[in-house]
Amino acid sequence: MEKIISESKIDQVAKLINKYDNVVTICHVSPDGDAVGSSLGLYHFLNALDKSVTVVVPDALPDNLCFLGGAKDILNFSKYPEFATELIDKAELLFCLDFNALSRVGDDLSPLIAKAKAKKVMIDHHLDPENFCDVIISHPEISSTSELVFRLICRMGMFDVLDCLSAAAIYTGMMTDTGNFTYNSNKPDMYFIIEELVRKGIDKDKIYTKVFNTNSVDKIKLNGYATSEKLEVFPEYKTAMITLTREELNRYHYRKGDSEGLVNVPLSIEGIVFSAFFREEKEYIKVSLRSKGNFPANKVASEYFNGGGHMNAAGGEFYGTMEEIIDRFKNLLPMYVQYLQ
Ligand code: 5GP
Ligand code: MN
Repeated sequence: MEKIISESKIDQVAKLINKYDNVVTICHVSPDGDAVGSSLGLYHFLNALDKSVTVVVPDALPDNLCFLGGAKDILNFSKYPEFATELIDKAELLFCLDFNALSRVGDDLSPLIAKAKAKKVMIDHHLDPENFCDVIISHPEISSTSELVFRLICRMGMFDVLDCLSAAAIYTGMMTDTGNFTYNSNKPDMYFIIEELVRKGIDKDKIYTKVFNTNSVDKIKLNGYATSEKLEVFPEYKTAMITLTREELNRYHYRKGDSEGLVNVPLSIEGIVFSAFFREEKEYIKVSLRSKGNFPANKVASEYFNGGGHMNAAGGEFYGTMEEIIDRFKNLLPMYVQYLQ
């Protein structure tokens, strides 16, 4: 396996883990498979080393990740802010997983992380990491943070400590951040890692079914409604857009995660290279963007929607009405024609 993380960073993290017993992991808001996978991957590993570890998430997990071992022990900051604050204050070592900027943990949590006395280690794969950690392991060329966690554990010489629960969490993150190995998935090392995870005893078929193939009637109907009634295509801009208002989401008893993956669907239309999904939340409209090739979804997210992300998968937030965001979106498309060639 190619050595990706530098020797000196491996060394620094190994020393921190050796020195400290009180550990907290934290990930980005609306935790996804990679955020939760990297958190629980590290959690089980550190538990096996007899550390006292708590996985803190800013807000609730989607239902389809709750099957993961250790998910029940995850502390939801939005539900138990006092308890989580106390643990973060007391932590000696803090792992910041799958995010590159303090703002990504939300307004209430970010000042707590900023002022925490703990040594901080970032493990992440988003571009342009902010400088708020003592050790920064940032590799945008690697498709998931979970893969980086695996690499870190191996390079510290502790592959033997990695158990099946940790392996399952890591696999989940690798799988979700590559759309079940359909994008960012051409590096041979990934398949070597998967082999090792399978040897640890994970049931990868079950993980796929639990994460991607477990639907409710409402979820199927919501997605059907979205793609049949709410899909708008702009052929001249090779772009598609789906919008869902609060009222529409309520109609299908929307639960967190029910629209996961919806933004990818229009990219399967021949000729479409850019897809946007706008979902109305309580205080803002959540923006999800996906693209193919050189179309910079992250540029659109940062220039127009207070967000960021990767070239082909980005997101952000918009404070305004659905009419306003649709207007903004239609108006920005002509600015990006140069990327359509
Ligand atoms: P999703 O559409 O799945 O919510 O997000 C896709 C990717 O876009 C994430 O992996 C993350 O890199 C980025 N992203 C999503 N929302 C935000 C946001 O509000 N701010 C920033 N900076 N990036 C985001
Ligand atoms: Mn990720």
